[in-house]
Amino acid sequence: MSSVQNDNLTDGMHVMVEALKKNGVDTIYGVVGIPITDLARHAQEEGIRYIGFRHEQSAGNAAAISGYLTKKPGICLTVSAPGFLNGLTALANATVNGFPMIQISGSSDRAIIDLQQGDYEELDQMNIAKPFAKAAYRINKPEDIAIGLARAIRAATSGRPGGVYLDVTTELLGSVIDKVEAEKTLFKVENPAPKSIPSSDSIIKALNLLSSAKKPLVLLGKGAAYSQADELIKKFLDETGIPFLPMSMAKGLLPDNHPQCAAAARSFVLENADTVMLIGARLNWLLGHGKGKHWNPDVRFIQLEIDPKEIDSNRPIEAPVVGDIESSMELLVNGLEKISIKVDSSWIENIEKDKEINIDKMAAKLNTITVPLNYYNALKIVKEVVDSHKDIYLVNEGANTLDDTRNVINMYYPRRRLDCGTWGVMGVGMGFAIGAAITSNKPILAIEGDSAFGFSGMEIETICRYKLPITIVVFNNGGIYRGDHENLGGGTDPSPTTLMATARYDKLIEAFGGTPYNVETQEELKDAITKGIESLKPTLINCKIDPKTGTESGHITSLNPKTAIKN
Ligand code: ADP
Ligand code: MG
Repeated sequence: MSSVQNDNLTDGMHVMVEALKKNGVDTIYGVVGIPITDLARHAQEEGIRYIGFRHEQSAGNAAAISGYLTKKPGICLTVSAPGFLNGLTALANATVNGFPMIQISGSSDRAIIDLQQGDYEELDQMNIAKPFAKAAYRINKPEDIAIGLARAIRAATSGRPGGVYLDVTTELLGSVIDKVEAEKTLFKVENPAPKSIPSSDSIIKALNLLSSAKKPLVLLGKGAAYSQADELIKKFLDETGIPFLPMSMAKGLLPDNHPQCAAAARSFVLENADTVMLIGARLNWLLGHGKGKHWNPDVRFIQLEIDPKEIDSNRPIEAPVVGDIESSMELLVNGLEKISIKVDSSWIENIEKDKEINIDKMAAKLNTITVPLNYYNALKIVKEVVDSHKDIYLVNEGANTLDDTRNVINMYYPRRRLDCGTWGVMGVGMGFAIGAAITSNKPILAIEGDSAFGFSGMEIETICRYKLPITIVVFNNGGIYRGDHENLGGGTDPSPTTLMATARYDKLIEAFGGTPYNVETQEELKDAITKGIESLKPTLINCKIDPKTGTESGHITSLNPKTAIKN
């Protein structure tokens, strides 16, 4: 087709950019190539920030975490087939975690794909995306772009948020439409995530159950953090005095050093609480499915949840409160005027006692001095730095690096801890760090296991290219879990869990002009993290950790297959 100069015409790419702008999209995370390169160029031309990655999975993770932090869908842009598939892991992870994001992927010629005649990057992307996404749509006509995007935005953000796939064909992107006609199709989605108000009966039932409890507990999940009902949750906990336990990404919703925080007595409160109010937390594997030896067998549950299908998913819930957390908390706080809740002082005292014992045990682990460092005495330093930079965003992944960091490092503000989430997935680190840096404009500290870092390590070029204030600490123990395993076959190949303990990850960032540190002692680590954070410049600290420290699979060793045969 020869190109025509006609000021009255526009095309699919431009209409897509206009539709995104109309809906307040200010950033796109992606990797360009056929057929979406010009779409990214036009977006930049029109004032949308385009952040280009080295791998689509990291772009998708950045989009997902920006969705979690802002309640607006993060946008990830990819090329067809392989690029689409690379992004799909992040899209699936967003869906599993309830993060709103939209993956927009270019795709090849429908006619050829449908007859399987062999096109460039031929793949039936929309149908492949369906089981991994909350919803999947394809736009075929330029006049449908605004409607297609609206469907994606609503699906991503309403109810339980999630990942949405939006297929844009090469033909659509290039198709021409009259400018005035195109303009008429554009609109801003009205109220994309409507309130969902729980019934007043369910609120009364929940309050009565709490009021009759002897040992109540509030369990805060990342749904609570996502809902941004911070003040209402705080008010409810202040007024009732109920102890609370944060799930990993809900840490900091109220400060971890709050007197009612029972994180240091986690096992004790789960084993003993007689009534547990879940606020935006699922009774999934992370909570032992709400049953079994880690729970009081007589525990009764209240569950604040937006998705009615979630209720009774693992065990009966006495008092479901189905609605959005903000509306639910507002009604619960108001309900306290009529139904008063008082917590037995003996419950609080016993939690306090257990906390003290565990804090002492932890202090003993933190206060050792070794070279090379181990996880705990290294984390003691990270803790001190975070305690004096309370507002920092903490990205965290690894096995031992994840579990120990979660337990040691206090969080003080909501939505500051970003980690492996519901799947316990590795590879989110650099994408989350970049997404959080772009969204918040604040310094980010990423505490990474050496194995976990490897999954997205090339994104340090992205971090340096955009000059982001990200400090990465690689806890290098030379292995997945541990670095000291042997090849059981006796050959010269390293064991399956072995990585290079001698690797100098710091040298990588040097190649891109970032600041490298290689540290072996607590003093060096403290100096490097502090300088990294305060410099606001890309920094990578290779922190040598004893290869002999670390537990197989971190805290979830029990999830490995159990066999009666002794290995
Ligand atoms: P965690 O891993 O922290 O326990 P989960 O991801 O398992 O948290 O659970 C979060 C829950 O919160 C999900 O079931 C999700 O449907 C729910 N949720 C998310 N946003 C809201 C909201 N605004 N109102 C109510 N529930 C929500
Ligand atoms: Mg390791």
